[in-house]
Amino acid sequence: MGEPGLAYAKLLTMKRTELFTKTSKTVPADETALNAKLLIRAGYVHKEMAGVYAYLPLGLRVLEKIKGIIREEMNAIGGQELLMTNLQPKAVWQTTQRWDDNIVDIWFKTKLQSGEDIGLAWSHEEPIMNMLRDYVHSYKDLPVAVYQFQTKLRNELRAKSGIMRGREFLMKDMYSVHATKEDLDDFYNQTIEAYKRVYDRLGIGNLTYVTFASGGAFTKFSHEFQTLCEAGEDWLYLDRERNIAVNEEVLDDAVKELGLSKDKLEKLRSAEVGNIFNFGTDKAEQMGITFADQDNTQKPFYYGSYGIGVTRVMGVIAELFADDRGLVWPDNIAPYRVYLVNIGNSPEVLARTQAVYDALQESGIDVLWDDREARPGEKFADGDLMGIPHRVVISEKTMASDSLEYKGRTDETPINTSLEELLNRLTA
Ligand code: ATP
Ligand code: MG
Repeated sequence: MGEPGLAYAKLLTMKRTELFTKTSKTVPADETALNAKLLIRAGYVHKEMAGVYAYLPLGLRVLEKIKGIIREEMNAIGGQELLMTNLQPKAVWQTTQRWDDNIVDIWFKTKLQSGEDIGLAWSHEEPIMNMLRDYVHSYKDLPVAVYQFQTKLRNELRAKSGIMRGREFLMKDMYSVHATKEDLDDFYNQTIEAYKRVYDRLGIGNLTYVTFASGGAFTKFSHEFQTLCEAGEDWLYLDRERNIAVNEEVLDDAVKELGLSKDKLEKLRSAEVGNIFNFGTDKAEQMGITFADQDNTQKPFYYGSYGIGVTRVMGVIAELFADDRGLVWPDNIAPYRVYLVNIGNSPEVLARTQAVYDALQESGIDVLWDDREARPGEKFADGDLMGIPHRVVISEKTMASDSLEYKGRTDETPINTSLEELLNRLTA
């Protein structure tokens, strides 16, 4: 498998002296979330205000790699990528009553110069349906699955969880339309499997549970993907024996429906990293959207909606794997896989470091070279704070033995190795 998401950035290598961000020991006084504290200190995000963060070059690389993994898995089940807009007309949301602030309480709204009301996208469920209306007319056009990576804006009451709860955040949202219930059910289940692969590849598969939740229209439940995480805002009720997880909102219902026994359930803190809905024909009926079926009658189509919180999942991963030295990225989504350090600035050391830098790049491995004139301890501390998975050191000492010093981010002690072995290890 290639480097997911890196097609966007041909730049596999970067030197610290060229990277404009710096690490820092301090964070804004109002920042309480561990994920944001570490991401700010390591130069991944910049806090603009509560719940609003800018993604700096390192943070953007992580996001792009997460997107790359999600994109591969959505494409694999037939999703077609598109990009909707953030400006949404009121009328589209009125058809389902969801323009009403009493029903959706996190809207940001504004007006055109003409006075016309405009909503800023908190979701794209209705606008996507409305767009598909113009293209999907017949059973022959079905099924269709489309998805996007798009900014969502939500006027959240509390935004104290760093990038895990943004007032502006990035979501992957996919939508599918079908001629029959069976076809939607089948695609819905394919999506569950695709989501499991996504969370596996992000390194949190073993902590993430498909969870019964509220909000299904056709089916009684929707499914959330909940990742065990102390910093999460949700509670998960887990039957370990039967591997069934239920969220707090539907606890009583699910206990009855699924035959669970309440005292067997473990109550655990979790973060919702995804949520999928089977709407049946409800939405199409509300919005008056139909297709011509084989028997030539007009029917409302079946509709599913599937979200992943891209920036939230980045925050959850930052929280979960961090240690007392800083971030710890899984290899798949680290902004750079190798933190290359030269100790000393003799022409020989610099030439050797440059050669290793070039060799890594030629092997398709992204590398951040700490070429600053700084103490070794300072360079090591920065590589650790940034959470780069592999550290490689070149010094007079390693050159004398014609070797490199290698240490994995969570290893206790470094080992000596050769360039060849290093490349083997990193391309395995
Ligand atoms: P929550 O209950 O956490 O407010 P939600 O159920 O309202 O989330 P959905 O509308 O299901 O969220 O959105 C799909 C996914 O987007 C969620 O599963 C979550 O991962 C992510 N998400 C939702 N709200 C936020 C937010 N404010 N910041 C970051 N990610 C979010
Ligand atoms: Mg949800």
